[in-house]
Amino acid sequence: MRLPKFDYVAPKTLDEALKALTAGGEGCRLLAGGTDLMVKMGHGLTAASLLVAIKGIEGLHGIRFDPSKGLSIGAATLIAEVAEHPDVLKYYPAVAQAARKTANTQIRNMATLAGNLCNAAPSADNAPVLLARGAEVEVVSQKGTRQLSLDDFFNGPGQTELARDEILTQILVPPAAKASGASYQWISPRGKVDISAVCVGVNLRLDGDVLKDVRIALGAVAPTPMRATEAEALMEGAKWSEALAEQVSAKASEESRPITDVRASAEYRRRMVSVLTRRALEEAHARAVENWGV
Ligand SMILES: Cc1cc2nc3c(=O)[nH]c(=O)nc-3n(C[C@H](O)[C@H](O)[C@H](O)COP(=O)(O)OP(=O)(O)OC[C@H]3O[C@@H](n4cnc5c(N)ncnc54)[C@H](O)[C@@H]3O)c2cc1C
Repeated sequence: MRLPKFDYVAPKTLDEALKALTAGGEGCRLLAGGTDLMVKMGHGLTAASLLVAIKGIEGLHGIRFDPSKGLSIGAATLIAEVAEHPDVLKYYPAVAQAARKTANTQIRNMATLAGNLCNAAPSADNAPVLLARGAEVEVVSQKGTRQLSLDDFFNGPGQTELARDEILTQILVPPAAKASGASYQWISPRGKVDISAVCVGVNLRLDGDVLKDVRIALGAVAPTPMRATEAEALMEGAKWSEALAEQVSAKASEESRPITDVRASAEYRRRMVSVLTRRALEEAHARAVENWGV
């Protein structure tokens, strides 16, 4: 893999990065860990005349947790840091699960969680659980700052709502509600060091014995990570039962729009959406029961 020639700047502040990004024009790209970008450039799938590296910007690093506001993950934070952070493990176990599952140790120590979202692969391992947890992203340009729900972030394979002059600065995940639980489930044909053929994130809450705020998100089965909203509606306001979980999982499978590619056939993916959604619902429900009174 031979990289084409490009210029490189490594600003120390967000302001400098925004200036470089605006001045750089069409050929300018942001570089985080480079584990997607450099591979694409090497294969001639993405062209860039200037790379603006963001890992040297101190303010974009770090994970902060506030029980009333929730979790904030800076754009330069490594996936390895998310996977091992004590507050993420304690209060967001499904988010940690997805981060731990992503790639291998070497990649997790280079790649950022923000890069995983901005790369906008339909199979991005961290997207479904963050969608299920109702995450938002903060986006900054020289014109100002805006906050976007992850529901409105993905536009297609490799495409997001980000304008060319914008930088995603942090990922915001709300605090878990009382008696709520989340889960992340995946399947990869080659075991651990592979992008998922199908992945599923679920979040739900128990109000007495009634299920509320049910969110089911699917990865690698549509042009973007997607919510299975009809499946969610079947469970919302209902009481938990295994038969219901089965029915909801089948509906999620119906809603998925998978294709056949090197990792799996469309038919296998559809079947796995049902299996993994069922497992995710069971784990999320069990965690919600455990969190009762917490
Ligand atoms: C061997 C290997 C295994 C992998 N396994 C997995 C896997 O199991 N699961 C999985 O989901 N992925 C996997 N990946 C893909 C990749 O590692 C992840 O998507 C990673 O999180 C990308 O993050 P990064 O920091 O390297 O992003 P980069 O490659 O630096 O950037 C990716 C894209 O996002 C843009 N970008 C980055 N940060 C920002 C920002 N803050 N604001 C705006 N735009 C930004 C860049 O301009 C670029 O277009 C794998 C990659 C490799 C090479």
